[in-house]
Amino acid sequence: MSSEAIAAPGGLSFDLSLDQQAVREMVRDFAEAEIRPIAAKIDVTHEFPHQNVKKMAELGLLGMFVPEAYGGAGMDYVSYVIAIEELSRVCASHGVIASVNNSLVCYPLMAYANEKQKQKYLVPLARGEKLGAYCLTESNAGSNAANQQTTAVLKGDAWVLNGAKIFITNAGPSDVLITYAATDRALGPKGISAFIVDADTPGVRKGKLEQKLGIHASDTREIYYENARVPRENLFGELNKGYAVALATLGGGRIGIAAQALGIAQASVEAAVKYANERTQFDRKIGEFDAIRAMLADSAIELETSRLLVYQSAWLRDQGRAHIKEASLAKWHASEAATKCANWAIQVHGGYGYLSEFSVERYWRDARITEIYEGTTEVQKMVVAAQVLKERAIAGD
Ligand SMILES: Cc1cc2nc3c(=O)[nH]c(=O)nc-3n(C[C@H](O)[C@H](O)[C@H](O)COP(=O)(O)OP(=O)(O)OC[C@H]3O[C@@H](n4cnc5c(N)ncnc54)[C@H](O)[C@@H]3O)c2cc1C
Repeated sequence: MSSEAIAAPGGLSFDLSLDQQAVREMVRDFAEAEIRPIAAKIDVTHEFPHQNVKKMAELGLLGMFVPEAYGGAGMDYVSYVIAIEELSRVCASHGVIASVNNSLVCYPLMAYANEKQKQKYLVPLARGEKLGAYCLTESNAGSNAANQQTTAVLKGDAWVLNGAKIFITNAGPSDVLITYAATDRALGPKGISAFIVDADTPGVRKGKLEQKLGIHASDTREIYYENARVPRENLFGELNKGYAVALATLGGGRIGIAAQALGIAQASVEAAVKYANERTQFDRKIGEFDAIRAMLADSAIELETSRLLVYQSAWLRDQGRAHIKEASLAKWHASEAATKCANWAIQVHGGYGYLSEFSVERYWRDARITEIYEGTTEVQKMVVAAQVLKERAIAGD
């Protein structure tokens, strides 16, 4: 047993604290009251839920683990994943809007920005007075995000940015763009830096709203930088160390997406169980048929194992302990579980599963993205394999 394990406080417990339970109750009440009534509609209209984003800000859901001194709610990471799970249980678009602002925007500023940058940007972002986006992916820098073609060249008192980012969540409504760019292309991943870019900077342009399979109410666009002059002091973290910022950010972000997937899986299982108890065929509730029961049992194991992995990785993060492998396991497993559970929910509903009325087809469309963004399943497997091999090397096998 490692010394880390011996030092664990209080032994093994699967109980949430009273504060964590209160977060679940508060977010569930909010989601049922404010999101449920519009979730199906905004899936059809692709409308960004501005009013609800404001309400999420008031509830502290956009800067959950940011210290109160910087405008955040000062909660732990477990509370954060519970909130994303509960939002996504009702509408996965709301889940990702919050997850991006928390994990991909507030986190890197919290961890790497200087005091002046924190006061100017982190405080309003954590309060939800501003909304942020995370701009890493490019047409030739997806899974291999190190292949950044966007450049930043220092000219006088400004970094001049040129390039294009694709698939950017929250792009349309965003005020702040956390942007990665090559400051020394010859150095590859060791020549990338991170910048805080005001979205209204001259030379920054947002593309058209992308049409997607799911998460329709999240706003996805390209972002173009055309001789955009970003103040010199808006580079954050160290010069040429931005790729480490991007990777560390995704390390936590993955847990947020795993929580989004968990919420979708939960919603799918609830819908399938409800329908199995209501629908009658051959004079019996369909929940009495072995084939339906098998789908519900398969869903249950996918859901419960996902929850264990997601909460475990969040808990490890709260303890300041290593969680690279656990975050990738959670993201890989929960995302596939969400797709499977939504698919079974459609099957349990028969023909109605294929219609929009019962929402399960939305859950399936929304689930699918969780297997792709913030690192595809294939990338998660690469991370897990590398960690497992490292562990074995340390163990001397
Ligand atoms: C709706 C949506 C929202 C997004 N939001 C954001 C955002 O806010 N900010 C941002 O920066 N990005 C965002 N992304 C981008 C997302 O993170 C990337 O799409 C994802 O990382 C995959 O990159 P790619 O699309 O270029 O696929 P590719 O990297 O081209 O991958 C294509 C296929 O090849 C596989 N593959 C690639 N390399 C390997 C390998 N070495 N071994 C095995 N298989 C491999 C992949 O797993 C995948 O199956 C978003 C994407 C979408 C669709």
